Parts: sequence; structure tokens; C-alpha cells
Amino acid sequence: RVAELAPHGRQMAPYACQRRTPLLHSNQPLTEALETLAEEAGFSGSEGRSLAFTRAASVLKALPGRLGALEELGSLPGIGEHSRRVIQDVLEDGVCAEVERVKLSERYRTMKLFTKIFGVGVRTASRWYQEGLRTLLDLQERNTKLTRQQQAGLRHYGDLNTPVERSEAESTSRAVQEAVKRFLPGASVTLAGGFRRGKPRGHDVDLLLTHPEEGREVGLLSRVVSWLDSQGLILYQHSQENSYGLREGPEPLGGRDVMDRFERCFSIFRLEAQGGPGAPRGWKAVRVDLVVAPVSQFPFALLGWTGSRHFERELRRFASRERKMVLNSHALYDTRQNLFLPATSEEEIFQHLGLEYVPPAQRNA
Ligand code: ATP
Ligand code: MN
Ligand code: MN
Repeated sequence: RVAELAPHGRQMAPYACQRRTPLLHSNQPLTEALETLAEEAGFSGSEGRSLAFTRAASVLKALPGRLGALEELGSLPGIGEHSRRVIQDVLEDGVCAEVERVKLSERYRTMKLFTKIFGVGVRTASRWYQEGLRTLLDLQERNTKLTRQQQAGLRHYGDLNTPVERSEAESTSRAVQEAVKRFLPGASVTLAGGFRRGKPRGHDVDLLLTHPEEGREVGLLSRVVSWLDSQGLILYQHSQENSYGLREGPEPLGGRDVMDRFERCFSIFRLEAQGGPGAPRGWKAVRVDLVVAPVSQFPFALLGWTGSRHFERELRRFASRERKMVLNSHALYDTRQNLFLPATSEEEIFQHLGLEYVPPAQRNA
């Protein structure tokens, strides 16, 4: 049986949420190549193809050691023909010609440049590319129409594309905590996102706010944001009201599977520089996501906002396909029993799903 011949192919579960995926793994060159193709497919609007490459990369991230030869893949789940070719090229030549071509292509480079602007998605970037725009300067010189968010993104482009260090995430968290304490003592601020998974740096700071008494969290965010603003800590912010519970039933949320309906604030903070005299200037712009969850939904929010994006997608796919349940960042609904399954911790959510608990540091799928 092939699976037994392949040292790695043996115990690889098909869904990423059934596996442990550490931050550091032994197949970086392979996953980088596959993720470049996933990104490129996303830029062309081929979501299915993008997902296939992402899945293949994710499987390699969960391998216990370095893949030495294609045969070792054995019957690993979720690695298609195209991905196998890419893996083979990288194993044999160190690089894959197709990937190198993509990385050099004008379209890929431009799409990457534009989508790194806060507030610019694939559709906008693609339109600009089609209109012949190629550089950030082009956007200014041709008076391209920009939203307020995109203007802020462009203004702080350099800072926002400089990784946020863990120390910066922590001091951001402390600043928010202090503001929260002023208005609602007892409320908590939790660092989620990549930092909770153990990443040493990230592209933003994801903070979850809640209060142990349901309902007390209502109205907190706008006060906190106003106060931080009055202290000169906010360079940009865009808030959204809670819209969960306005509709009946567990209908899947929105078009994109990751969007939820919590009260939230997408912002850019002006963070005092921690760097000593060597620091080029006194502050740095940092992207911060603030999300407020009622305590009854908090475990779902925490699970949903810890990521990785692929881990979340797989959890939801597993829930619906294998358990006939609907999971989102608000709740877990069992469609067979027609009831919501409450939880007071992430562990309980995994239990409801019949999954072994995966700690945050192992969700780097
Ligand atoms: P990075 O270091 O790049 O920030 P990250 O894993 O923290 O990595 P984010 O984009 O900040 O990436 O997202 C963190 C998690 O929050 C994701 O896994 C995603 O599921 C969730 N998330 C992000 N944006 C939204 C959104 N608009 N609505 C709902 N959930 C979201
Ligand atoms: Mn993040
Ligand atoms: Mn985020």
C-alpha cells in the first residue's frame, strides 16, 4: 500500500483543522512556490485554483520533516497534478520556472504593489492595471479616484508594509486596554490573529473586546475610539455597527466566508516608536482591527479571529460537510438537531465538532 511506503503520507488527515500545523516547518521553499501560484491565481480571479495551491502548501506545512523526493508524497491528501509538478521542479532544480515567471511578470508585480494598499482588493487593483496604471506615483499623477481608506493606505504605505513587531502589538494592546478601563472596568482586550498563533511579526494587530456580563460591551467601542482619537493615537478609522441578530436564523454570513457582523473598527494607529535614538522618527503607522463580541459569542469570535485564514476555512468546511453544522465567528448551529450549540471556550467548540483540540500555535495552516 502506497500510503505505508510513504513516510509522510501515513497519518495526514484531509482537513487542515484535523492537523497540527506549526509556525516553523521544514518545507519553506516548496510552500513559498505554491503560495506564489495561489496568490497569482487569486489575482486572476481563479478562486478554485488558488485554493488548490493553498491546500497543497498547507499539507506540506504539516509534514514532520523535509520532503526529499516526490515519491515521499505517497497518498498525501489534497495535492493535485499541478502542485506535484511544482514540487518536483523545486526539489530537482531548487526553483520552478513557472513560479519564477510569475514573480517577474508585470501583472503579478503590479497587483502585489496595489493590493498592499490598505483598502485595495483584487478587483480594484485589477481595474487599475487594466487602465495602464503601474506605480504608486501613477495613482497620484493620474488623479485616480481613491476612497478615504485608500488615501490613508497610500499615505502610510511604507509603514503599513513594514511588519508589526510583537512588542508593537503588545504596546498597542496596552493602549487599547487603558482606554477600555476608563469606560468599562472589567472588560477585556485579547490579542488574536497571527500573534496569538505565535508569529513574531504580522501585518496588523487584531484585538477582541468583551465583558463578562452580556450586553455591557454595547457602546464601548465608539467611546474607546473617540478617546484614543482625542489622544492623537488614531490616524484613520472606519467603524461598523453590529448587525448580528438583526436577522433570524443561522443563514451563512455574507458572500465571503470570513466576514462577520460584529461591531468593529478598522483603523490605523499612530504608535510611539519604541526604537531608541536610532529610530528614524518618533512614530509609526500600524494597522489595528478592533472587534467587540458579546461574551456568549466570544469563544466563536476568538476562534474565528485567531486564524489562520486557511485553518478557519477548513474548520467551516469540515463543520458543514462532515457534521452538517454551520460555524461562523458568532455561533455553531447544528442543522440536524436544529439548535445552536453554545460554548464557553474554544475547546468546547472543537468538542462539539468532534475534533481534537488544536492550540493556536498549531493553527498555522
Ligand atoms: P497577519 O500577521 O498578516 O495579520 P493574520 O493571520 O493575523 O496574519 P488577518 O488578516 O489579520 O491575518 O486575519 C486574522 C483572522 O481574522 C483571519 O484568520 C480571519 O479569519 C479573521 N478575519 C480577518 N478579517 C476579517 C473580517 N473582515 N471579518 C471576519 N473575520 C476576519
Ligand atoms: Mn492579523
Ligand atoms: Mn486583521
